[in-house]
Amino acid sequence: MKADCIFCAIIARKAPATIVSETDDVLVIKDIAPKTPIHYLIIPKHHYNDLQELNDCCVGSRLLSTAQQLSQETPQAKDYRLLINNGYGVGQRVFHLHMHFLAGKEFTDF
Ligand code: AMP
Ligand code: ZN
Repeated sequence: MKADCIFCAIIARKAPATIVSETDDVLVIKDIAPKTPIHYLIIPKHHYNDLQELNDCCVGSRLLSTAQQLSQETPQAKDYRLLINNGYGVGQRVFHLHMHFLAGKEFTDF
């Protein structure tokens, strides 16, 4: 847990969030400012600042399998898009690794 990290605080239940699912090493919450009708954040419980710091292939694999499971369990999320912003220059604003799970609308851009 990193001090001053909002996602570490949510994982520790010291800050509020709408929790969608939880396992030993992954937490899924609803994004506070959803960009699509379904917008979840798939968050490893271990603090990594960004994807470049991820050094555990099990965690990487579990982030992806969590997306598969969310799709299976969520009506409207058979089709979905995953997104990781790595670095401030491409829009990362929370420096605790997370993957956006986006669904419920048609994407016309790439
Ligand atoms: P990124 O720009 O990739 O770092 O994404 C950060 C995301 O976290 C944004 O979509 C925010 O809306 C979302 N976010 C920030 N704070 C919270 C929070 N307290 N609870 C839920 N989502 C949050
Ligand atoms: Zn953190």
